[in-house]
Amino acid sequence: MYDLDLFVIGAGSGGVRASRIAAQFGARVAVAEDMFIGGTCVNVGCVPKKLMVYGSHFREDFEDAAAFGWDVTVGRPDWGRLIANKDKEIARLNDVYRGILSRAGVELIEGRAVIVDPHTVEVNGRRISARYILVAVGGWPYLPQIPGIEHAITSNEIFRMKRLPERIAVVGGGFIAVEFAGIFNGYGAQVTQIYRGDKVLRGFDEDVRATLSEEIVKKGIDLRLSRNVTAIERLADDSLSVTLDDGGTLQVDALVYATGRRPKTAALGLEEAGVAMDEKGAVIVDEYSRTNVDSIYAIGDVTDRINLTPVALMEGMAFAKTVFGGQPTPVDHDMVPSAVFSQPPVATVGLSEEQARARYADVDIYRSTFRPLKHTLTGRDERVMMKLVVDADSDRVLGAHMVGADAAEIIQGIAIAVKMGATKAQFDATIGIHPTAAEEFVTMREKAS
Ligand code: NDP
Repeated sequence: MYDLDLFVIGAGSGGVRASRIAAQFGARVAVAEDMFIGGTCVNVGCVPKKLMVYGSHFREDFEDAAAFGWDVTVGRPDWGRLIANKDKEIARLNDVYRGILSRAGVELIEGRAVIVDPHTVEVNGRRISARYILVAVGGWPYLPQIPGIEHAITSNEIFRMKRLPERIAVVGGGFIAVEFAGIFNGYGAQVTQIYRGDKVLRGFDEDVRATLSEEIVKKGIDLRLSRNVTAIERLADDSLSVTLDDGGTLQVDALVYATGRRPKTAALGLEEAGVAMDEKGAVIVDEYSRTNVDSIYAIGDVTDRINLTPVALMEGMAFAKTVFGGQPTPVDHDMVPSAVFSQPPVATVGLSEEQARARYADVDIYRSTFRPLKHTLTGRDERVMMKLVVDADSDRVLGAHMVGADAAEIIQGIAIAVKMGATKAQFDATIGIHPTAAEEFVTMREKAS
């Protein structure tokens, strides 16, 4: 009756996972992609960003090496070589994704697909019918409309930048802003970060926000808090003049806007097909990722639930199991760990102290701040902050938070325990691995409050 069982729009993390698993359940599947095979994460997000984070950390590592007996002479970094090597790796990953799809028997159509009706899409002039349509088109950077905003770039363009600008301003205080401010700073640019709030990372635990806001200043970033940009102007020498809301100006060679991302739902045929969206353009779905139109589902950033790659993968898997595997599987957005690859990095799972206090009658806080062992020799003024949020009545650990080296690697393990409902007593009964920073999570005995 239909050409296919499933047509997926968007070959990003969620779309590829859903396509592959649906095909493994025996569905006839095609996926359309008009830009990035592998999506944002692989092409202009997590993967190349993390490579740049690694690269940008060497400057500090070379400096620290001296205290351990190594004398390293450091020249200027070759940004072009970094980008070329990164491009080679991303091209390899694009091929890996093509391979995953073709081995699963999924047809990859390179073109922009538009929904024509609840069972039909049009792509490259071809109309294809499908029993189900899955919208997995992701998000796109959002920029506020201020005079001169056309001179700003977003994270998309950073990955193609031919050379590293000497002076860079980054606007925003979220994931992308703090990550790129750290990358540019590590590579030696003069970085100003402009954020309208009083501490970076709104929504995170207040101790995390305060610690990171202090640490990034120590690293050399000129952090302007409670400030916003009101106008941008290109000067005759091609640099940019950035006007702030206190009347001050800033002259930079590049201005990066990291002011959030929005679902990429414009001109996709969703309104015409009757699919309900919210005021930001996010597709509204139920716990099975189904829209108000029975044959149309949506997963990943386009639904604006938790905008993280591993969450999109989980949603794609749950969709395929539900629709093609005969195993109705609701999405599970509880206790999702996440990390911000700022410098130092942040990682977290569960509730912040503020969220816990709003939901539980009696909350205990355990907190530790210390200088990491490595820096006892280097003398570097860097502090680690670790924190556990505990429900005093049940002794259950509700949240774990860390700012400091290897935070993401450490919290991933802690997240298993927190997701399983571990109690503080069980954390305490666990023997530490010495000497590590991670052992602090099982040795915090004194309540901070
Ligand atoms: P975020 O939502 O994290 O941050 C947006 C920032 O821009 C906030 O600080 C916000 O301020 C500020 N902002 C928004 N509008 C304006 C405005 N009009 N003027 C000035 N500032 C403004 O978005 P990002 O772009 O950093 O990242 C998008 C999403 O991608 C993240 O939320 C995350 O889900 C995902 N991501 C995850 C990463 C990871 O897992 N490591 C890495 C990168 C992205 P305010 O706080 O005041 O609203």
